[in-house]
Amino acid sequence: MSGAPRRVVVVGNGIAGLTACDTLRAEGFDGELTVVGAEVHAPYSRPALSKALLKLDGDLGAHELPPSSHDAIELRGVSATGLDVDARRIALSDGQDLAYDGLVIASGARARRPEVDVPVLTLRELDDAIALRGALAGRPEVVVLGGGVLGMEIASGALAAGCRVTLVATSAPMSRQLGGFLATMLARAATERGLRVVTTPSAEIVERGGRAAVSLADGTVIEADVVAGATGDHANIEWLAGSRVLTGDALVADGRGRVADGVVAAGDVASWRGSRGVRRTPLWTSAIEQARTAAAALLRGDEVPELDFQSYFWTEQFDLAVKAVGDLPLIDDPETVEGDAASDSALLRWTHPDGSHTAVAVNWRIPIPKLRRLTLAG
Ligand SMILES: Cc1cc2nc3c(=O)[nH]c(=O)nc-3n(C[C@H](O)[C@H](O)[C@H](O)COP(=O)(O)OP(=O)(O)OC[C@H]3O[C@@H](n4cnc5c(N)ncnc54)[C@H](O)[C@@H]3O)c2cc1C
Repeated sequence: MSGAPRRVVVVGNGIAGLTACDTLRAEGFDGELTVVGAEVHAPYSRPALSKALLKLDGDLGAHELPPSSHDAIELRGVSATGLDVDARRIALSDGQDLAYDGLVIASGARARRPEVDVPVLTLRELDDAIALRGALAGRPEVVVLGGGVLGMEIASGALAAGCRVTLVATSAPMSRQLGGFLATMLARAATERGLRVVTTPSAEIVERGGRAAVSLADGTVIEADVVAGATGDHANIEWLAGSRVLTGDALVADGRGRVADGVVAAGDVASWRGSRGVRRTPLWTSAIEQARTAAAALLRGDEVPELDFQSYFWTEQFDLAVKAVGDLPLIDDPETVEGDAASDSALLRWTHPDGSHTAVAVNWRIPIPKLRRLTLAG
Protein backbone atom coordinates (compact mmCIF):
# COMPACT_ATOMS: atom_id res chain seq x y z
CA MET A 1 0.00 0.00 0.00
CA SER A 2 1.42 3.41 -0.87
CA GLY A 3 1.34 5.73 2.19
CA ALA A 4 -0.82 5.52 5.27
CA PRO A 5 -4.53 4.88 4.64
CA ARG A 6 -6.96 7.80 4.94
CA ARG A 7 -10.17 5.84 4.56
CA VAL A 8 -10.50 2.59 6.50
CA VAL A 9 -13.47 0.25 6.42
CA VAL A 10 -13.95 -2.43 9.08
CA VAL A 11 -16.35 -5.23 8.13
CA GLY A 12 -17.83 -6.82 11.25
CA ASN A 13 -18.98 -5.11 14.40
CA GLY A 14 -18.00 -7.83 16.88
CA ILE A 15 -15.10 -7.72 19.32
CA ALA A 16 -12.48 -7.99 16.55
CA GLY A 17 -14.06 -5.11 14.60
CA LEU A 18 -14.46 -2.98 17.73
CA THR A 19 -10.87 -3.63 18.84
CA ALA A 20 -9.58 -2.85 15.35
CA CYS A 21 -11.41 0.53 15.41
CA ASP A 22 -10.09 1.36 18.90
CA THR A 23 -6.55 0.33 17.92
CA LEU A 24 -6.57 2.40 14.72
CA ARG A 25 -7.48 5.48 16.75
CA ALA A 26 -4.99 4.65 19.51
CA GLU A 27 -2.31 4.33 16.81
CA GLY A 28 -3.11 7.86 15.66
CA PHE A 29 -5.32 7.16 12.63
CA ASP A 30 -7.47 10.28 12.25
CA GLY A 31 -8.93 9.58 8.82
CA GLU A 32 -12.43 8.37 7.91
CA LEU A 33 -13.38 5.16 9.68
CA THR A 34 -16.50 3.18 8.75
CA VAL A 35 -17.66 0.01 10.44
CA VAL A 36 -20.17 -2.24 8.69
CA GLY A 37 -22.09 -4.63 10.94
CA ALA A 38 -24.73 -7.17 9.93
CA GLU A 39 -26.31 -7.10 13.38
CA VAL A 40 -28.44 -4.18 14.48
CA HIS A 41 -26.94 -4.29 17.98
CA ALA A 42 -23.92 -2.39 19.27
CA PRO A 43 -20.95 -4.72 19.90
CA TYR A 44 -21.53 -6.99 22.90
CA SER A 45 -19.85 -9.78 24.82
CA ARG A 46 -20.63 -13.01 23.01
CA PRO A 47 -19.23 -15.24 25.82
CA ALA A 48 -21.87 -13.80 28.17
CA LEU A 49 -24.65 -15.20 25.96
CA SER A 50 -24.11 -18.78 27.07
CA LYS A 51 -23.27 -17.88 30.67
CA ALA A 52 -24.91 -14.99 32.57
CA LEU A 53 -27.57 -14.40 29.92
CA LEU A 54 -28.95 -17.96 30.09
CA LYS A 55 -29.50 -17.75 33.83
CA LEU A 56 -33.17 -16.91 34.31
CA ASP A 57 -32.30 -14.79 37.36
CA GLY A 58 -29.10 -13.51 35.71
CA ASP A 59 -28.27 -9.96 34.69
CA LEU A 60 -29.98 -9.16 31.36
CA GLY A 61 -27.28 -6.55 30.71
CA ALA A 62 -24.33 -8.88 31.34
CA HIS A 63 -23.41 -8.88 27.65
CA GLU A 64 -23.17 -5.11 27.32
CA LEU A 65 -19.84 -3.47 26.56
CA PRO A 66 -18.94 0.16 27.31
CA PRO A 67 -20.08 2.55 24.56
CA SER A 68 -17.50 2.91 21.79
CA SER A 69 -15.38 6.03 21.53
CA HIS A 70 -13.69 5.39 18.17
CA ASP A 71 -15.81 7.93 16.33
CA ALA A 72 -16.48 5.64 13.37
CA ILE A 73 -19.44 5.89 11.03
CA GLU A 74 -21.41 2.82 12.13
CA LEU A 75 -23.60 1.07 9.56
CA ARG A 76 -25.68 -1.42 11.54
CA GLY A 77 -27.97 -4.03 10.06
CA VAL A 78 -25.97 -3.81 6.83
CA SER A 79 -23.77 -6.60 5.40
CA ALA A 80 -20.82 -6.51 3.07
CA THR A 81 -21.77 -8.62 0.07
CA GLY A 82 -18.71 -8.37 -2.16
CA LEU A 83 -15.10 -7.21 -2.29
CA ASP A 84 -13.10 -5.89 -5.26
CA VAL A 85 -9.47 -5.67 -4.11
CA ASP A 86 -8.27 -4.06 -7.36
CA ALA A 87 -10.81 -1.22 -7.26
CA ARG A 88 -10.69 -1.19 -3.42
CA ARG A 89 -14.43 -1.21 -3.10
CA ILE A 90 -16.91 -3.12 -0.97
CA ALA A 91 -20.48 -3.83 -2.04
CA LEU A 92 -23.12 -3.59 0.68
CA SER A 93 -26.50 -5.26 1.15
CA ASP A 94 -28.27 -1.87 1.07
CA GLY A 95 -26.99 -1.23 -2.48
CA GLN A 96 -24.22 1.15 -1.43
CA ASP A 97 -20.64 0.73 -2.52
CA LEU A 98 -17.85 1.79 -0.14
CA ALA A 99 -14.37 2.83 -1.23
CA TYR A 100 -11.46 2.12 1.10
CA ASP A 101 -7.72 2.33 1.11
CA GLY A 102 -7.43 0.17 4.22
CA LEU A 103 -9.75 -2.76 5.00
CA VAL A 104 -10.14 -4.85 8.15
CA ILE A 105 -12.06 -8.09 7.64
CA ALA A 106 -13.65 -9.06 10.97
CA SER A 107 -16.86 -10.76 9.88
CA GLY A 108 -16.55 -13.57 12.44
CA ALA A 109 -18.44 -16.82 12.20
CA ARG A 110 -22.00 -18.11 12.44
CA ALA A 111 -23.56 -21.18 14.01
CA ARG A 112 -23.81 -24.33 11.94
CA ARG A 113 -27.52 -24.95 11.42
CA PRO A 114 -29.14 -28.30 10.66
CA GLU A 115 -30.95 -28.56 7.36
CA VAL A 116 -34.45 -29.20 8.68
CA ASP A 117 -37.62 -27.18 8.21
CA VAL A 118 -38.54 -27.19 11.89
CA PRO A 119 -37.35 -24.85 14.66
CA VAL A 120 -33.97 -25.68 16.18
CA LEU A 121 -32.33 -23.26 18.57
CA THR A 122 -28.67 -22.38 18.09
CA LEU A 123 -26.63 -19.83 20.01
CA ARG A 124 -24.42 -17.31 18.29
CA GLU A 125 -26.12 -13.94 18.42
CA LEU A 126 -27.84 -11.88 21.08
CA ASP A 127 -31.22 -12.58 19.51
CA ASP A 128 -30.50 -16.34 19.74
CA ALA A 129 -29.75 -15.98 23.46
CA ILE A 130 -32.96 -14.05 24.09
CA ALA A 131 -34.94 -16.74 22.22
CA LEU A 132 -33.23 -19.56 24.12
CA ARG A 133 -33.69 -17.86 27.49
CA GLY A 134 -37.37 -17.38 26.67
CA ALA A 135 -37.72 -21.04 25.68
CA LEU A 136 -36.06 -22.25 28.91
CA ALA A 137 -38.35 -20.13 31.08
CA GLY A 138 -41.17 -22.65 30.54
CA ARG A 139 -38.91 -25.44 31.94
CA PRO A 140 -39.27 -27.62 28.84
CA GLU A 141 -37.56 -30.95 28.30
CA VAL A 142 -34.38 -30.12 26.37
CA VAL A 143 -32.00 -32.08 24.17
CA VAL A 144 -28.72 -30.50 23.16
CA LEU A 145 -26.69 -31.90 20.27
CA GLY A 146 -22.97 -31.19 20.64
CA GLY A 147 -20.51 -31.98 23.43
CA GLY A 148 -18.22 -28.98 22.94
CA VAL A 149 -18.01 -25.88 25.08
CA LEU A 150 -21.16 -24.31 23.70
CA GLY A 151 -23.25 -27.49 23.99
CA MET A 152 -22.15 -27.98 27.59
CA GLU A 153 -22.77 -24.34 28.52
CA ILE A 154 -26.27 -24.48 26.99
CA ALA A 155 -26.96 -27.74 28.86
CA SER A 156 -25.69 -26.17 32.08
CA GLY A 157 -27.93 -23.12 31.62
CA ALA A 158 -30.94 -25.31 30.84
CA LEU A 159 -30.36 -27.49 33.92
CA ALA A 160 -29.97 -24.41 36.11
CA ALA A 161 -33.30 -23.17 34.71
CA GLY A 162 -34.94 -26.32 36.04
CA CYS A 163 -35.23 -28.26 32.75
CA ARG A 164 -34.66 -31.97 32.24
CA VAL A 165 -31.69 -32.05 29.87
CA THR A 166 -30.09 -34.68 27.65
CA LEU A 167 -26.82 -33.90 25.92
CA VAL A 168 -25.92 -35.95 22.85
CA ALA A 169 -22.25 -36.03 21.84
CA THR A 170 -20.08 -38.07 19.50
CA SER A 171 -17.29 -38.42 22.10
CA ALA A 172 -16.97 -37.74 25.81
CA PRO A 173 -18.13 -34.11 26.22
CA MET A 174 -15.27 -31.58 26.19
CA SER A 175 -12.64 -34.32 25.73
CA ARG A 176 -11.60 -33.09 22.26
CA GLN A 177 -11.27 -29.51 23.49
CA LEU A 178 -9.68 -30.07 26.91
CA GLY A 179 -8.43 -33.66 27.10
CA GLY A 180 -9.51 -36.49 29.40
CA PHE A 181 -8.63 -35.10 32.83
CA LEU A 182 -10.64 -31.87 32.68
CA ALA A 183 -13.41 -33.48 30.59
CA THR A 184 -13.88 -36.11 33.31
CA MET A 185 -14.04 -33.41 35.97
CA LEU A 186 -16.69 -31.48 34.02
CA ALA A 187 -18.67 -34.62 33.19
CA ARG A 188 -18.79 -35.56 36.88
CA ALA A 189 -20.04 -32.11 37.84
CA ALA A 190 -22.61 -32.26 35.03
CA THR A 191 -24.02 -35.69 35.88
CA GLU A 192 -24.09 -34.88 39.61
CA ARG A 193 -26.32 -31.94 38.74
CA GLY A 194 -28.65 -34.16 36.71
CA LEU A 195 -27.40 -33.99 33.10
CA ARG A 196 -28.08 -37.10 31.08
CA VAL A 197 -25.24 -37.67 28.60
CA VAL A 198 -25.65 -39.90 25.55
CA THR A 199 -22.58 -40.68 23.44
CA THR A 200 -23.03 -42.13 19.99
CA PRO A 201 -20.73 -42.53 16.95
CA SER A 202 -22.90 -40.09 15.00
CA ALA A 203 -26.07 -38.07 15.46
CA GLU A 204 -28.15 -35.57 13.56
CA ILE A 205 -31.14 -33.32 14.03
CA VAL A 206 -34.16 -34.63 12.16
CA GLU A 207 -37.83 -33.80 11.85
CA ARG A 208 -40.33 -35.95 13.77
CA GLY A 209 -44.01 -35.14 13.64
CA GLY A 210 -43.43 -31.51 12.74
CA ARG A 211 -40.81 -30.98 15.45
CA ALA A 212 -37.07 -31.34 15.74
CA ALA A 213 -35.55 -34.41 17.38
CA VAL A 214 -32.10 -35.98 17.58
CA SER A 215 -31.44 -39.21 15.74
CA LEU A 216 -28.59 -41.43 17.00
CA ALA A 217 -26.34 -43.84 15.09
CA ASP A 218 -28.35 -46.89 16.26
CA GLY A 219 -31.61 -45.40 14.97
CA THR A 220 -32.89 -44.24 18.36
CA VAL A 221 -34.64 -40.88 18.15
CA ILE A 222 -34.64 -38.59 21.17
CA GLU A 223 -37.56 -36.20 21.23
CA ALA A 224 -37.90 -33.13 23.46
CA ASP A 225 -39.80 -29.86 23.69
CA VAL A 226 -36.69 -27.88 22.79
CA VAL A 227 -33.84 -29.04 20.57
CA ALA A 228 -30.64 -26.99 20.63
CA GLY A 229 -27.85 -27.54 18.11
CA ALA A 230 -24.26 -26.75 19.09
CA THR A 231 -22.32 -28.50 16.38
CA GLY A 232 -19.74 -25.91 15.41
CA ASP A 233 -19.51 -22.82 13.27
CA HIS A 234 -18.71 -21.53 9.78
CA ALA A 235 -16.41 -18.57 9.13
CA ASN A 236 -18.34 -15.76 7.40
CA ILE A 237 -16.32 -15.72 4.18
CA GLU A 238 -18.99 -16.09 1.51
CA TRP A 239 -18.97 -12.34 0.78
CA LEU A 240 -15.28 -12.69 -0.18
CA ALA A 241 -15.95 -15.25 -2.94
CA GLY A 242 -14.21 -14.27 -6.17
CA SER A 243 -12.13 -11.56 -4.46
CA ARG A 244 -8.86 -13.57 -4.58
CA VAL A 245 -8.25 -13.13 -0.83
CA LEU A 246 -9.36 -16.68 -0.03
CA THR A 247 -7.05 -19.68 -0.03
CA GLY A 248 -9.42 -22.52 -0.86
CA ASP A 249 -12.21 -22.11 1.65
CA ALA A 250 -10.14 -20.23 4.24
CA LEU A 251 -9.11 -16.63 4.80
CA VAL A 252 -5.43 -17.11 5.56
CA ALA A 253 -3.54 -14.23 7.15
CA ASP A 254 0.17 -13.87 7.89
CA GLY A 255 1.52 -13.33 11.41
CA ARG A 256 0.43 -9.67 11.28
CA GLY A 257 -3.04 -10.40 9.93
CA ARG A 258 -2.34 -9.32 6.33
CA VAL A 259 -4.22 -11.06 3.55
CA ALA A 260 -3.63 -8.69 0.62
CA ASP A 261 -2.22 -5.23 -0.02
CA GLY A 262 -4.15 -2.86 2.27
CA VAL A 263 -6.30 -5.68 3.66
CA VAL A 264 -5.99 -7.35 7.07
CA ALA A 265 -8.19 -9.88 8.88
CA ALA A 266 -8.76 -10.78 12.52
CA GLY A 267 -10.94 -12.88 14.77
CA ASP A 268 -13.11 -15.92 14.08
CA VAL A 269 -13.21 -15.31 10.32
CA ALA A 270 -9.45 -15.67 9.88
CA SER A 271 -6.85 -18.44 9.97
CA TRP A 272 -3.53 -16.97 11.08
CA ARG A 273 -0.10 -18.28 10.15
CA GLY A 274 2.04 -18.82 13.27
CA SER A 275 4.83 -20.98 14.64
CA ARG A 276 2.36 -23.88 14.92
CA GLY A 277 1.05 -23.62 11.37
CA VAL A 278 -2.11 -22.01 9.99
CA ARG A 279 -4.91 -22.02 12.54
CA ARG A 280 -8.28 -20.51 13.17
CA THR A 281 -8.54 -19.76 16.92
CA PRO A 282 -12.18 -18.86 17.59
CA LEU A 283 -11.67 -17.44 21.08
CA TRP A 284 -12.48 -14.04 22.56
CA THR A 285 -8.97 -12.98 23.59
CA SER A 286 -7.49 -14.26 20.31
CA ALA A 287 -9.92 -12.02 18.42
CA ILE A 288 -8.76 -9.06 20.53
CA GLU A 289 -5.05 -9.75 20.17
CA GLN A 290 -5.32 -10.42 16.43
CA ALA A 291 -7.34 -7.25 15.88
CA ARG A 292 -4.74 -5.17 17.75
CA THR A 293 -1.90 -6.56 15.66
CA ALA A 294 -3.79 -6.43 12.35
CA ALA A 295 -4.98 -2.83 12.80
CA ALA A 296 -1.49 -1.69 13.76
CA ALA A 297 -0.02 -3.56 10.77
CA LEU A 298 -2.49 -1.84 8.43
CA LEU A 299 -0.91 1.47 9.47
CA ARG A 300 2.69 0.52 10.19
CA GLY A 301 3.34 -2.69 8.22
CA ASP A 302 6.46 -4.69 9.08
CA GLU A 303 7.34 -2.40 11.99
CA VAL A 304 4.64 -4.22 13.96
CA PRO A 305 5.88 -7.45 15.56
CA GLU A 306 4.18 -10.65 14.46
CA LEU A 307 1.61 -11.84 16.95
CA ASP A 308 3.11 -14.24 19.44
CA PHE A 309 0.09 -15.07 21.53
CA GLN A 310 -0.53 -17.71 24.11
CA SER A 311 -4.17 -18.65 23.88
CA TYR A 312 -6.48 -18.13 26.83
CA PHE A 313 -9.65 -20.18 27.17
CA TRP A 314 -12.36 -20.14 29.79
CA THR A 315 -15.69 -21.78 30.40
CA GLU A 316 -18.32 -21.72 33.12
CA GLN A 317 -20.57 -24.74 33.43
CA PHE A 318 -22.18 -26.85 36.15
CA ASP A 319 -20.81 -24.53 38.87
CA LEU A 320 -17.24 -24.99 37.64
CA ALA A 321 -15.22 -22.07 36.27
CA VAL A 322 -12.24 -23.26 34.24
CA LYS A 323 -9.53 -20.91 32.95
CA ALA A 324 -6.65 -22.22 30.85
CA VAL A 325 -3.56 -20.49 29.50
CA GLY A 326 -1.55 -22.45 26.93
CA ASP A 327 -2.12 -25.19 24.43
CA LEU A 328 -5.14 -27.50 24.58
CA PRO A 329 -6.19 -30.33 24.68
CA LEU A 330 -4.21 -31.73 27.61
CA ILE A 331 -2.82 -35.24 27.60
CA ASP A 332 -2.15 -37.20 30.84
CA ASP A 333 -2.53 -35.93 34.38
CA PRO A 334 -1.40 -32.56 35.72
CA GLU A 335 0.80 -31.46 38.57
CA THR A 336 -1.27 -29.82 41.32
CA VAL A 337 0.20 -26.41 42.10
CA GLU A 338 -2.34 -25.53 44.80
CA GLY A 339 -5.69 -26.86 45.97
CA ASP A 340 -7.26 -30.23 45.29
CA ALA A 341 -8.72 -31.31 41.95
CA ALA A 342 -10.81 -34.01 43.68
CA SER A 343 -12.73 -31.28 45.49
CA ASP A 344 -13.10 -29.22 42.28
CA SER A 345 -10.92 -26.33 43.36
CA ALA A 346 -7.33 -26.32 42.16
CA LEU A 347 -4.52 -24.68 40.29
CA LEU A 348 -3.07 -27.24 37.88
CA ARG A 349 -0.20 -27.38 35.44
CA TRP A 350 0.54 -29.65 32.50
CA THR A 351 3.98 -30.01 30.87
CA HIS A 352 3.96 -30.77 27.14
CA PRO A 353 6.58 -32.96 25.39
CA ASP A 354 8.31 -29.80 24.07
CA GLY A 355 8.73 -28.49 27.65
CA SER A 356 6.01 -25.81 27.36
CA HIS A 357 3.24 -25.62 29.97
CA THR A 358 -0.49 -25.09 30.20
CA ALA A 359 -1.79 -23.64 33.46
CA VAL A 360 -5.41 -24.26 34.49
CA ALA A 361 -7.46 -22.77 37.32
CA VAL A 362 -10.60 -24.66 38.33
CA ASN A 363 -12.81 -22.67 40.69
CA TRP A 364 -9.66 -20.88 41.78
CA ARG A 365 -9.40 -17.11 41.93
CA ILE A 366 -6.26 -16.02 40.14
CA PRO A 367 -5.56 -13.03 37.90
CA ILE A 368 -4.83 -14.01 34.29
CA PRO A 369 -1.29 -12.50 34.26
CA LYS A 370 -0.45 -14.70 37.25
CA LEU A 371 -1.88 -17.75 35.48
CA ARG A 372 0.25 -16.83 32.46
CA ARG A 373 3.34 -16.61 34.66
CA LEU A 374 2.74 -20.18 35.81
CA THR A 375 3.27 -21.36 32.24
CA LEU A 376 6.75 -19.81 32.24
CA ALA A 377 8.11 -21.50 35.34
CA GLY A 378 10.50 -24.40 34.54
C1 LIG B 1 -22.33 -18.30 22.95
C2 LIG B 1 -20.85 -18.14 22.81
C3 LIG B 1 -20.05 -18.23 23.94
C4 LIG B 1 -18.67 -18.05 23.83
N1 LIG B 1 -17.91 -18.17 24.95
C5 LIG B 1 -16.58 -17.98 24.87
C6 LIG B 1 -15.76 -18.06 26.03
O1 LIG B 1 -16.23 -18.34 27.12
N2 LIG B 1 -14.43 -17.82 25.89
C7 LIG B 1 -13.89 -17.52 24.68
O2 LIG B 1 -12.66 -17.30 24.60
N3 LIG B 1 -14.63 -17.44 23.56
C8 LIG B 1 -15.96 -17.66 23.63
N4 LIG B 1 -16.73 -17.59 22.50
C9 LIG B 1 -16.08 -17.25 21.22
C10 LIG B 1 -15.95 -15.73 21.08
O3 LIG B 1 -17.14 -15.11 21.42
C11 LIG B 1 -15.53 -15.41 19.66
O4 LIG B 1 -14.25 -15.96 19.44
C12 LIG B 1 -15.50 -13.91 19.37
O5 LIG B 1 -16.76 -13.34 19.61
C13 LIG B 1 -15.06 -13.65 17.93
O6 LIG B 1 -15.17 -12.29 17.67
P1 LIG B 1 -15.21 -11.76 16.16
O7 LIG B 1 -15.37 -10.27 16.28
O8 LIG B 1 -14.08 -12.30 15.39
O9 LIG B 1 -16.49 -12.40 15.51
P2 LIG B 1 -18.08 -12.26 15.86
O10 LIG B 1 -18.19 -12.13 17.32
O11 LIG B 1 -18.69 -13.39 15.15
O12 LIG B 1 -18.44 -10.88 15.21
C14 LIG B 1 -18.51 -10.72 13.81
C15 LIG B 1 -19.62 -9.76 13.47
O13 LIG B 1 -19.59 -9.53 12.06
C16 LIG B 1 -20.91 -9.57 11.57
N5 LIG B 1 -20.87 -9.96 10.15
C17 LIG B 1 -20.81 -11.20 9.63
N6 LIG B 1 -20.77 -11.14 8.29
C18 LIG B 1 -20.82 -9.84 7.95
C19 LIG B 1 -20.82 -9.15 6.72
N7 LIG B 1 -20.74 -9.79 5.57
N8 LIG B 1 -20.90 -7.80 6.76
C20 LIG B 1 -20.97 -7.12 7.94
N9 LIG B 1 -20.97 -7.74 9.14
C21 LIG B 1 -20.88 -9.08 9.15
C22 LIG B 1 -21.62 -10.58 12.43
O14 LIG B 1 -23.00 -10.36 12.40
C23 LIG B 1 -20.99 -10.29 13.79
O15 LIG B 1 -21.73 -9.30 14.48
C24 LIG B 1 -18.10 -17.79 22.57
C25 LIG B 1 -18.90 -17.73 21.43
C26 LIG B 1 -20.27 -17.91 21.55
C27 LIG B 1 -21.14 -17.84 20.31
